[in-house]
Amino acid sequence: MTEVAPVTDALVGAIRNRLPELRLLTDEVDRESYRRDETAYLRTGLPCAVALPTETRQVAELVRLCGEFGVPIVPRGAGTGLSGGAAGIEGALTIAFTAMDRVLEIDGDNLVVVTQPGIINAALKKVVAAQGLFYAPDPASFEICSIGGNLGTNAGGLCCIKYGQTRESVLGLEVVMADGTVLRTGGKNVKDVAGYSLTHLIVGSQGTLAMVTEATLRLRPLPPPRSTLIAFFATLEAAGAAVAGIARAGLSPVTLELMDQFTIGAVDDMQGLGLDRDAAAMLMVESDLPGSAAGVEMDAARVVCEAAGATQVVQATDPQEADWLRQGRRSAFHALERLGTARMEDVGVPRARVPEMLVAIEGVAAKHDVRVGTFGHAGDGNLHPTFVFERDDPNAEAINEAARGDLYRAAIALGGTITGEHGVGVARRDYLELQRGADAIRVMRQIKDALDPKGILNPGRVLA
Ligand SMILES: Cc1cc2nc3c(=O)[nH]c(=O)nc-3n(C[C@H](O)[C@H](O)[C@H](O)COP(=O)(O)OP(=O)(O)OC[C@H]3O[C@@H](n4cnc5c(N)ncnc54)[C@H](O)[C@@H]3O)c2cc1C
Repeated sequence: MTEVAPVTDALVGAIRNRLPELRLLTDEVDRESYRRDETAYLRTGLPCAVALPTETRQVAELVRLCGEFGVPIVPRGAGTGLSGGAAGIEGALTIAFTAMDRVLEIDGDNLVVVTQPGIINAALKKVVAAQGLFYAPDPASFEICSIGGNLGTNAGGLCCIKYGQTRESVLGLEVVMADGTVLRTGGKNVKDVAGYSLTHLIVGSQGTLAMVTEATLRLRPLPPPRSTLIAFFATLEAAGAAVAGIARAGLSPVTLELMDQFTIGAVDDMQGLGLDRDAAAMLMVESDLPGSAAGVEMDAARVVCEAAGATQVVQATDPQEADWLRQGRRSAFHALERLGTARMEDVGVPRARVPEMLVAIEGVAAKHDVRVGTFGHAGDGNLHPTFVFERDDPNAEAINEAARGDLYRAAIALGGTITGEHGVGVARRDYLELQRGADAIRVMRQIKDALDPKGILNPGRVLA
């Protein structure tokens, strides 16, 4: 650390000199608040400074200066990430994109919006909705996370089953590369296969390949309010069978979410929704089809759920009730957090193997004698088993480490993934090779070295 200080002092001086108008936080108390993202258990570092640029030109200059001084950069959105991707690195410069939050253009004819990355997902949705348009990607954290962070993690959420992850809504980016070059990777074209798709490579790379300074995102006409149905099941397997049945029936609900019994109880304690707390699992199914088509889709989903053994199927009677139910599902993690120290995971499996994954999760929890609440995007095969420890349990982190290792191995054994949407970051880095294999890691490393030869862009994230 004593080695680092002179270099970083010189960097801070050079930034002040070249970008006198830039907001640069150097007080320790300010820097401390950029130490962590939402992955509280990770060891993190204190940034040497935090820059809050408002324009691409400033970002490019910051990157060039960091390259000159050999100081790493951590790009950061709203800091709600769950893999440590935006957590501080000791002595690095954190570039927080929160002040780059302007919507630059809404093009209704081409159904695209061009925006800076710092805007909060919910704010973007609201701005385009005012023009009858819809930005689909919908992480449960949509009210607190930024578009830049969503691009960094290729965020998923509650409507991927119909509209895909963030990447599916990205047509082009403006990025700053590791040497300060400003590059456009695409634009408003819906079809564009000219060369390698740098857009797709950069989305999901967690700030390790380039920094996003502008995004051209796909919009849709604003769909009507959703019809919402919830179904309760006596076993996890029956709920899993309903998930598979909905896909087999060719239905395309906008939401197909699951909560297990522990989560149902926690959510009901917090929200008082009157959920069936004796049920082993609950599915929430939603349609955003227009007019009577939504009713047809909901009826078909009801038939599938009943055939799979649903003990109760309830349809929301009005949009307000549907909102409460949706809010209940969104609040699952916070509801579990009220019961102790909660550690959320993010495994994924091919959809049809959801029942087996649910059984495996229960097995891992039993083996490590830890409470687990599982909820998530069952329609995508993406589950968030959340281990809950007593707040004063001195062994909590050690047990969590062992349990999540077993969880990842179980997911991989089912042909699944260690992370469906939260990203590898630092938290899952040691398990990446287990899933992808040594050859894939070597190729990823070659890409990283080619695009960031000095290794200054978010080093140690995704790849060791
Ligand atoms: C309660 C809760 C619920 C959640 N639900 C979901 C969910 O349903 N689906 C889901 O996918 N995630 C979910 N998350 C995780 C998190 O909200 C997402 O990963 C989100 O995309 C992070 O956005 P952020 O702005 O907070 O990014 P940050 O945490 O600040 O950063 C995330 C990553 O993106 C990189 N990054 C940020 N900005 C840029 C940029 N401009 N250029 C390049 N890289 C950049 C960072 O370096 C980091 O690696 C949830 C989190 C919480 C706390």
